[in-house]
Amino acid sequence: MARTSRIPGFHKVTIQQRRNLVVDTTGADEGEIGRALDKGGLSAEAADKFVENVLGTYALPYGMALNVRVNGHDRVVPMVIEEPSVVAAASNAAKMAREGGGFVAEADPPLMIAQVQLCEVLDAESTAAVLEAHSEEIRKFADRALGGLVARGGGARAVEARVLAEDMVVVHILIDCKDAMGANLVNTVAEAVADPIATIAHARVGLRILSNLCDKRCVRVRCRVPADAIATDAMSGSEVIDAIVGASRFAELDPYRAATHNKGIMNGVDAVVIATGNDWRAVEAGAHAFASRSGRYQPLATWRRDGDHLVGSLEMPLAVGTVGGTLRVHPAARLSLRILGVTDAQELACIAASVGLASNLAALRAMATVGIQRGHMGLHARTVAVAAGAWGDQVEQVAAMIVEAREITLEGARRALETLARDANRQSTVIDD
Ligand code: NAD
Repeated sequence: MARTSRIPGFHKVTIQQRRNLVVDTTGADEGEIGRALDKGGLSAEAADKFVENVLGTYALPYGMALNVRVNGHDRVVPMVIEEPSVVAAASNAAKMAREGGGFVAEADPPLMIAQVQLCEVLDAESTAAVLEAHSEEIRKFADRALGGLVARGGGARAVEARVLAEDMVVVHILIDCKDAMGANLVNTVAEAVADPIATIAHARVGLRILSNLCDKRCVRVRCRVPADAIATDAMSGSEVIDAIVGASRFAELDPYRAATHNKGIMNGVDAVVIATGNDWRAVEAGAHAFASRSGRYQPLATWRRDGDHLVGSLEMPLAVGTVGGTLRVHPAARLSLRILGVTDAQELACIAASVGLASNLAALRAMATVGIQRGHMGLHARTVAVAAGAWGDQVEQVAAMIVEAREITLEGARRALETLARDANRQSTVIDD
């Protein structure tokens, strides 16, 4: 089957028709989609095995980003997110990027860092040198704790010692986690190697834990968008390129802007990370620590002009897995991996980061042209209508009324509902007469 992510009219059809289209284009099983997504896909009994003190589950919308092409392969990308307009915006921007060939992405080998803190060190510099001289021995200790992973081709790859203070050294053991996110694997290693390391260093062991600043596990994505693909009715493509490049410069110069710029990227990344059952707190922690690595908080993605193209580049650490954790247990996470058709964790990281770059492009283009609120509030209107008590067909009617009146507020939606009720009343009186 030729897998395509171009599904015109997808947003206009019913949920059941969308499911059929996803079955047709990705080969996903219709029954599995129903089992995984109806009622949130997770029973209270199953949830009770995930975390503690469970009362039930909390569902989030599960949408599909379309038009995404990464390294020449089309991907229909599941996104789990509560914020209106993010899925539509990512799909729209992915279509623009597609005009320039789509996203080109590469992921580092899946190396995670186990940290062992050494305290009460007598001579930090010479202790660090001694530890590095014993790195092969420490690596073997680590591999002994990772039998299953080593058998799959992963395991400890290197040992580094860093001096943090006169009396404190931290040892990093770099672990190739293959297709796992790796937190549990890495924590196991940190605890297993701590005592032998303390013996070598003649020091007291402090913490033994992974670092979420997994800067050896970065993903890099680029896209080249032709000017014609990003023109608007009011602005030429070339003007839009200049405006987006200016917006990128703003984020590069100002951490206040960079924080929101990166939030837009994480709208896309997190939604894919959550849909695939991965740990989004770990990904967030890594992304923002990486953004601050120069000492000043920086944008994770930047935009430049290259002739009549806009070129976007994103680099960020991204620890995601296709095995382990709760991935294989949560039916919706399993479904997502199946729909994506990924074969390994690096491929998944490339797709999540591409959707992040698409989300960034969509937000910058909107802000640089008509403003973010027009598209966002138009879609937000439906949520406001539901919050005001609209249901069924009323939701679209109320949303259209408050967008038209430019009053996308709870009050505006309540008034629109009253108007609809009055009209319905009048209608029934006429019929009764
Ligand atoms: P895990 O404990 O399930 O370990 C992965 C398992 O999968 C291992 O037993 C491994 O041998 C096996 N495996 C099978 N096929 C594999 C393959 N192809 N590649 C790699 N391993 C393979 O999961 P994990 O990834 O070590 O830990 C992830 C979990 O840890 C997440 O749920 C996360 O929320 C949680 N966690 C996170 C933090 C943090 O980020 N700070 C801390 C603690 C726990």
